[in-house]
Amino acid sequence: NPRFKVTVVGSGNWGTTTAKIIAENTRLNPTLFQQQVNMWVFEEQIHGKRLTEIINTEHENIKYLPGVKLPSNIIAVADIVQAVKDSNILVFNLPHQFLPGVCAQLKGHIHPQARAISCLKGLEVTPDGCTLLCDSIAHGLNIPCGALSGANLAPEVAREKYSETTIAYKLPNDHFPGDVDRQTWKTLFHRPYFHVRVVSDVAGVSLGGALKNIVALAAGFVEGKGWGENAKAAIMRRGLIEMIRFGQLFYKDCDMATFTHESAGVADLITTCAGGRNVRVGAEMARSGRSAEAVEKELLNGQSAQGVLVTKEVYELLENKGLLNEFPLFEVTYQITFNGYPIDKLPSLFDRFD
Ligand code: NAD
Ligand code: 13P
Repeated sequence: NPRFKVTVVGSGNWGTTTAKIIAENTRLNPTLFQQQVNMWVFEEQIHGKRLTEIINTEHENIKYLPGVKLPSNIIAVADIVQAVKDSNILVFNLPHQFLPGVCAQLKGHIHPQARAISCLKGLEVTPDGCTLLCDSIAHGLNIPCGALSGANLAPEVAREKYSETTIAYKLPNDHFPGDVDRQTWKTLFHRPYFHVRVVSDVAGVSLGGALKNIVALAAGFVEGKGWGENAKAAIMRRGLIEMIRFGQLFYKDCDMATFTHESAGVADLITTCAGGRNVRVGAEMARSGRSAEAVEKELLNGQSAQGVLVTKEVYELLENKGLLNEFPLFEVTYQITFNGYPIDKLPSLFDRFD
């Protein structure tokens, strides 16, 4: 019998794409994985039909990943407890504002030896500190949880255009023979078009994915104003410095090379600032003068620009710690997004860049 049964918790643009990758690999590795991959779907009606029914009959997520055929061994399940039943591999992939509610629903219902990976890009920030989302999952459900992050625009990965990703996972102290290990994660995710590197820097991989979304909003402001590629590169350079500084201040064990050498670092920053949803939202805010919320609603059809939330959370954390001076780009991105600070004043900030 195959050792592992997999459930993807989430079915948005990236959630559905990772389910596709995984379902291809469970077919290719039938002695290791059960072929059927459950995908938990937050149920909604589309043209009078349930989204789960559409996915299971047409093998397409017509709302969140239109135009991409899905393997028929993905089974969409609306009941979250049913979706994770007997699964010992859980792949979390949903916008981070929904994670606390989802973990609360899962508590007490998961396989006792389940192992997890978080594909979310965000942080749980309280005024006194911050928690990586993989750690929120690990603590909330009492299971080991790693992180997957990289330069992975879902619409490209779903169409099997080449990309790289970084997985960070630490084997738990109480691991057992046949437990999920780094090679298991690689076998589950690696595809010819999706190149996986496995590392152990969970904090660096998680922070890269979360913080680049703030920078992407700012890059969007520059794009929307038509200030050119050089100015956008200046934002990205400055943003990378602040990402690394944040890691150094809040996660002493995080490896700076993750930011500079891995897909989860600089490569994700570049791709998101070129073509992600966050940059599109920032650009449209700059062009139209409308709020992030209104633009997100109009442009994204139910998808989420996670940079808006993380910009606010990181600002509140830095303010509370008295550290805003060291993060001028993060601060001004917050002031523009939430306090009506004029984008036209952004260039005056360039003088504060070191
Ligand atoms: P998305 O932005 O497409 O969000 C839509 C999803 O949210 C849908 O599945 C919808 O059903 C669900 N949803 C809506 N209301 C909900 C509720 N009340 N409770 C639970 N779920 C609800 O999601 P995504 O693109 O799959 O992103 C998931 C994570 O992956 C995010 O953290 C994102 O930053 C990250 N990510 C996204 C991409 C990408 O290109 N899309 C790439 C890499 C990483
Ligand atoms: P957006 O959420 O801005 O689309 O970025 C997607 C991403 O994380 C690419 O790696």
